Amino acid sequence: MQFTPTLTPLTGETLDSLTEKLRVQGEPLFRAKQILDWLYKKRARTWEEMTNLPKPLRAWLAATFDLAPLSLVLNRQSEDVTDKLLLELRDASLIETVIIRAPQEGVGVEHSRKTICISTQVGCAMGCVFCASGLAGLKRDLSAGEIVAQVLQVCYREDARTPRARTELASFDNLVVMGLGEPRANYDELLLALKILNADWGLGVGARRVTISTSGLVPKILRLADEDLGFRLAISLHGATDVVREKIMPVNKAYPLAKLIPAVRAFSEKHGRMVTLEFILIDGINDSLPQAEKLRDIARDLHAHVNLIPYNTVAGLPWKRPSLTRQERFADILRAARISVTLRREKGHEIDAACGQLRLRTEKEREVASAQPPV
Ligand code: SAH
Ligand code: SF4
Repeated sequence: MQFTPTLTPLTGETLDSLTEKLRVQGEPLFRAKQILDWLYKKRARTWEEMTNLPKPLRAWLAATFDLAPLSLVLNRQSEDVTDKLLLELRDASLIETVIIRAPQEGVGVEHSRKTICISTQVGCAMGCVFCASGLAGLKRDLSAGEIVAQVLQVCYREDARTPRARTELASFDNLVVMGLGEPRANYDELLLALKILNADWGLGVGARRVTISTSGLVPKILRLADEDLGFRLAISLHGATDVVREKIMPVNKAYPLAKLIPAVRAFSEKHGRMVTLEFILIDGINDSLPQAEKLRDIARDLHAHVNLIPYNTVAGLPWKRPSLTRQERFADILRAARISVTLRREKGHEIDAACGQLRLRTEKEREVASAQPPV
């Protein structure tokens, strides 16, 4: 389920597909590379900037391709550490893309490690009970062009923060596919987008810097294991037994732990690198010590890293994060077994911190606004 725009997003083209389209127009073979250089290497924002292209070609390009299939609606900054961008697509759908900065000791924030978190769907169909992204269900899948355009949008923003010399275009350290949506449910478009982002004619993002997070669609995990590009894998586990997991994640009915764990093992054996198990800590739901012990056993068995994430409250949902003491007690069980574990201590607990909330709230405001009688 995708939206068909009037103009094709240029960000969805590969060097081969663009070369072919230009060949049909009677253009020489080197044109596609020139155009993609303008887009990704020089970050041109208009066709007029592409001065080495003949004017008639620029006119044809403008009538055929969309340079940016989305626009910035809102930028919610939090303590100069997180930038949450609310982006509007051509059909007025909203998605979120987040920039997370991890400041390094002794250097300014402009030198912090930067991670970009991108969305793959408008909403989500997986129905995890704690998650804002899935509250209103799935609206549609994003196209590869829309996925790539999120990263470019972040680059444009970050370029503007750096001194304006064109040689100092902003870069980032990691890319995580953890925004709105279940990436594996939109597998083909995501893979195409990642190939464009990875290509040397694209943004050149190394596969090892890309982490794909999934709630556990087993067949897609096995498919990803077969891909040559070695992306990193994160599993949203959130329950260390079927009883607990099934209560909060409906996907566990189709793919219980007995199916999920062997698939994760197959992935890490194939790619020889550590998988991350994400585990949100929700008060009274999955934060008991027996859960910690079961999680420890799973992590040990898979040689996985565990990322404990204190739950971010979602407006309208009853779940809460456990107390700091309870979080630490849970983490200690893993630490005692020498499991590699991080307990996230981020500040962004304020309203809208959880992914999907900004979109949900803005959509509600829009509905209210459009329901107002005209004055
Ligand atoms: N759909 C994919 C990727 C997007 S969700 C997945 O589920 O893996 C990214 C991560 O944020 C997941 O681990 C998800 O479970 C977690 N998450 C969702 N809602 C959250 C909340 N309110 N607080 C903390 N983490 C949350
Ligand atoms: Fe979808 Fe992930 Fe949220 Fe579950 S946690 S509803 S899979 S976005």
